[in-house]
Amino acid sequence: MKKNDHQFPSLGKKSFGILMVLLIGSALMINYGCKTTKKVVTPVSTDDGIISFNFLQLNDVYEIAPLEGGKVGGMARVATLRKRLTNENPNTLTVLAGDFLSPSLIGTIKKDGKRIKGAQMVEVMNATGIDLVTFGNHEFDIKEQELQDRINESKFTWLGTSVRRINTKTGKVSKFYQETDSTINYVPDTWTWEISDEDGTSIRVGFFGATLDMNEVKYVKYLDVTNTCLEAVQTLSMQTDVVIGLTHLNVAEDLELAAKLPQVPLLMGGHDHHHIRETVGNTLVTKADANAKTAYVHTLTYNKNTRETKVSSKLIDINEQLHADEAVKTIVDKWKRIMDDNITKVVDQPYAEIYYSKVPLDAREAVNRREQTNIGRMINEAMIKVAKREVDLSFFNSGSIRIDDKLEGTITAVDVFKILPFGGQLVEIDIKGDLLIKVLNESKSRVGQGAYLQRKKVFFSDKNNTWMVNGAPIDPEKDYHAITTDFLLKGIDLKTLHVNDPGITRFYRPDPDDRTDLRNNVILTFIDYLVNLPSERD
Ligand SMILES: [Zn+2]
Repeated sequence: MKKNDHQFPSLGKKSFGILMVLLIGSALMINYGCKTTKKVVTPVSTDDGIISFNFLQLNDVYEIAPLEGGKVGGMARVATLRKRLTNENPNTLTVLAGDFLSPSLIGTIKKDGKRIKGAQMVEVMNATGIDLVTFGNHEFDIKEQELQDRINESKFTWLGTSVRRINTKTGKVSKFYQETDSTINYVPDTWTWEISDEDGTSIRVGFFGATLDMNEVKYVKYLDVTNTCLEAVQTLSMQTDVVIGLTHLNVAEDLELAAKLPQVPLLMGGHDHHHIRETVGNTLVTKADANAKTAYVHTLTYNKNTRETKVSSKLIDINEQLHADEAVKTIVDKWKRIMDDNITKVVDQPYAEIYYSKVPLDAREAVNRREQTNIGRMINEAMIKVAKREVDLSFFNSGSIRIDDKLEGTITAVDVFKILPFGGQLVEIDIKGDLLIKVLNESKSRVGQGAYLQRKKVFFSDKNNTWMVNGAPIDPEKDYHAITTDFLLKGIDLKTLHVNDPGITRFYRPDPDDRTDLRNNVILTFIDYLVNLPSERD
């Protein structure tokens, strides 16, 4: 519905001025009347019982700067859109439906001796004018104290409807909280937004959140999403006029939830990285594209007389059509300089094209942690290429891939830093067949987690019901020459693979001072591989 659609008439500025005169006049009359005759005078009011308000919805934002060579996304552009909407209607609320503190390249870089870990995002979100967020699974990628610091720094409201904080020292379970000086403010399960318009229609809009339980972390307790949401909606229904959900769930879970909450007209969701718009009964479920490539603008109109809510939603491209807000851009540029300073210590031209890919390289987390991907294959090929001896197989943990996005077109060194932000050394090993089988079996059982391996030259044969290398089942007695990451050998991700295991009979580590040995940094290994690939550009 357009703003001037007269299905729901609203007063212009001029009539608002006239209304104020009438109201003041009638107030004086009431006062005068009370003193003398105590006659009840009905105040003149044009409250039409109808109010319109906007939501600007973002979800899954990891990058503060525009992407794809500056063409799409960028929080400074979002800030401009927010200002525009707020000018049109002050009753505009900007929300982010989870996943923003991690992962990002900037987040892994150190500033003043501390890893940044989402501080860049909170500063930018504060400046952009984000009002309300819900926890996404990625908020729990960072450590307990790091998340606490980010919540403390935030100027927006968090919804923690289906999550609780476990104090890992005491085991005590509580709501998450914001600590300011000496006060502790608990993150609410529900939040109410009170608004009124020019003709005096006022309503209360209630919000609840939801977070999917995919990120197992010691300091987080997940509550049952359905139960907590039903309870929250029940509470809000008694206290507010309209109830809205801000969720971070799989789309299937969102639709299931929507079916159980017919009184909720809108679930603004996240987690899926592409835009979605689905309807279940009267409930609309929407998700925008990740990294603010798009944003949803919802205009809701509530009629107090009929208690009806109308939702009109538009997916807006965040691109060059929106100029960058100066204040937000200054902050984004500051963080970009910090990132570039770190990257130029390693590569000379961070933004030069190193490869052009026609086929999208699938670096999405959910896919890489479940199946073999094209980018997993390419990183393994890069590792095999830098090995000093011919290897029987290659593997690395899928959790190394962090960008959580598909990449196509121009690929730069910065992209590779974003794909593999942790970097790290590659190590060649001789590994006994029986240990190798254990490692591969553990990887298979860890599907969905970062410990799931992306591998090359080894596969599981359903026919033989065993792992195959060099066209034959792995021989438990034989030594195999493999290349993998130093990180994996630490036994943090895969419990079966540890540097001290006698099943690893030899190590071949690069000399850390030899800058020509690309095994010293998997980022450089992959950059070198891409530079030397034939470009897919026509
Ligand atoms: Zn997510």
